[in-house]
Amino acid sequence: MTDSTETTQLEADIPHDDLCPICRHLLHRPVITQCSHTLCEPCMAEWADVSVTSQMTPIPLTSPESADFNMLAISAKCPMCRTLTSAQRSEEVEERVKSRYPEIYAQREEEYTRDESLKDVSIVSLVVYVGNTAKLVEGSGSGERKFYDWEFFVTVSDTSVVNEVEILLHETFKQPRVVKRRAPYTVRREGWGTFTIRANVVLKSGYSWISSDAVDTAYAKRVSLPLEWTLDFEDGGSQARCKLKLKNERRRLRSS
Ligand SMILES: [Zn+2]
Ligand SMILES: [Zn+2]
Repeated sequence: MTDSTETTQLEADIPHDDLCPICRHLLHRPVITQCSHTLCEPCMAEWADVSVTSQMTPIPLTSPESADFNMLAISAKCPMCRTLTSAQRSEEVEERVKSRYPEIYAQREEEYTRDESLKDVSIVSLVVYVGNTAKLVEGSGSGERKFYDWEFFVTVSDTSVVNEVEILLHETFKQPRVVKRRAPYTVRREGWGTFTIRANVVLKSGYSWISSDAVDTAYAKRVSLPLEWTLDFEDGGSQARCKLKLKNERRRLRSS
């Protein structure tokens, strides 16, 4: 969201439809939301508020991803109307504004890449799966107290951005805190009771979560994402999926 007097003057005659409703400049790298709002991709990324709980979608444990699931679509609350939506780059709109205002568009692109605070900041989409598998331990216990051999897991679509996953079990377990520094991020135990497991997905330096649920650590802002999962022993277990966004600011880190 750069503010430049050079472009503002040239942009005075641009019709409303070709301007971003957030930064009020010519649309730059435009995206269209499912709620039919068109805005710049950097503006969408900056303002869209992603909450993990609103994102969690239960999916079958074994079935492969359906074909209509777009891993890269940005899911977020629309900054214009606040409905949960996803946004995708629109080549059509981009071509339209580029061909109508080639000079202004080139200037917008130039300002964007020149701005130190935005330089090399890229937005990455990540899919996170959280769930558990469960197998009845034959001949164990009776009635309500049947024992299950369960495995809790957190799976991410790109493990190269994850520093560690901290898994917190019920305090009655012998080793209730497990830290996994590399995939698979899993914990396997046996027990009869279901409870809520907490898992904190901590990113590598230079990355931060774009989510209102993200928390700071002593070292960096918004690098830890707390997830909650209640164990499910029915039908072999279950899982949920959520799509999240990360900000990658490697360059700023190098120069500081
Ligand atoms: Zn904008
Ligand atoms: Zn909207």
